[in-house]
Amino acid sequence: MGFHFKQVLTPLGWVENLSAEITDLGNFGSVTEDENPKGFQIIENPVVPGMVNLHSHSFQYAMAGLSECRRNPVDSFWSWREMMYYFAHNVSPEDLQAITAKLYMELLKGGYTETVEFHYLHNDMDGRFYANPAELSASIFNAAHATGMGLTHLPVFYAFSNFGGQSPTESQRRFINTREQYARLIDALKASLPSEGTTTLGIAPHSLRAVDEDSLQWLLALRQDKLPGCPVHIHVAEQTKEVADSQAHNGMRPVTALMAQAPVDENWCLIHATHLDDSEVSAIAKSGATVGLCPLTESNLGDGIFPAVDYLGQDGHFGIGSDSNISTDPRQELRMLEYSQRLIRRERNVLCSAPLPNTGAFLWSNAAQGGARAAGKNCGAIETGLEANFIELPHDTQGAMACVSPEAALDFHIFSGQSRGLGDVYVKGKKTIENGHHPDEDKINKAYFRSLRRLSENLIV
Ligand SMILES: [Zn+2]
Repeated sequence: MGFHFKQVLTPLGWVENLSAEITDLGNFGSVTEDENPKGFQIIENPVVPGMVNLHSHSFQYAMAGLSECRRNPVDSFWSWREMMYYFAHNVSPEDLQAITAKLYMELLKGGYTETVEFHYLHNDMDGRFYANPAELSASIFNAAHATGMGLTHLPVFYAFSNFGGQSPTESQRRFINTREQYARLIDALKASLPSEGTTTLGIAPHSLRAVDEDSLQWLLALRQDKLPGCPVHIHVAEQTKEVADSQAHNGMRPVTALMAQAPVDENWCLIHATHLDDSEVSAIAKSGATVGLCPLTESNLGDGIFPAVDYLGQDGHFGIGSDSNISTDPRQELRMLEYSQRLIRRERNVLCSAPLPNTGAFLWSNAAQGGARAAGKNCGAIETGLEANFIELPHDTQGAMACVSPEAALDFHIFSGQSRGLGDVYVKGKKTIENGHHPDEDKINKAYFRSLRRLSENLIV
């Protein structure tokens, strides 16, 4: 079995006439430029690798659009967080599964074929531990399985409310773990990993606010013992208040403090890393870590703008995440990323390169590969040995795209085709979205709207 792509985006740029064999495990076998001598199924539309979503909090999808009304003299991240806590307190395991399945289905339709779930909901609504520490993680596993989304699951360790080991607040009761309970959670997750091989585990210290240095050292030792070499993700330097609090605590900016406390390497992903000085930009690039950018959520929350030009100029790796899930479309994230750089630099076509001068192609290809590194998965490009995750880009040469060359198809989709749907989406060689629909769409929608109605009953916005 295999496919013959007429036009396909590879890490080296657009290539014509590529034949790709699909193995029994759903990976690309041999990938060769030829005239399709084996008679594989021909795909006429331009094809791009499936995008990796390297940062998601799935339950927040249910509150998308509900915090866009000013209730304070100055609204901020911290007032948004109050709305987020309402949902965090009221989501049952059944709700979480329904919301996550709906989200993952929409992310698949948007072109994401792998999601990294930064999962910090662990406890029952009253803060008590569930009998099964992986009760809420199971909801995420089930949703990924039901939709066909590739998953890297990151159970979050969350112990404190701010720098200096400040006690957690009542509103953080569902997030908090003891060290013993977290170790039990890792054991339970390892024992319950689905057998089909599309799910991977990693760990996530929530932030330097929520995990002090002693806890971080303990967590890294636990990783060495139970999940050696697994991905490690952490929120860092998202907000200027966080930078100020860190400096007040130990005299260091958050990224500088993280680098001093942990052996950050290519297995690490620094989520946001928005507020950096020059030495921190260089330190991250040199470490080999990936920066996890969430351009729409960072814009929505008023976080700030990542110094992408300086960072990419030092060969830094990046990927994109849907984070609060206000958007399920990677094209919108990439557009926001490029536009933020254009606005501060007053230039055009900022994030591209000599080998990939098309901005859309550069952003998509590098974000997919960076996301795969962060996810700890063999995916993110159309290459021998990687997961066969890819997407067709509709290219209607009779309509709005009449003047668009296949090489510019991604530019059109990202910067011009505002409401243009994607084509069919393949995960591990199987068609998961066909003509914009998932085979279990009705069932997934019904369960989601049932949960949403229940959650909305006591919510006035
Ligand atoms: Zn986050």
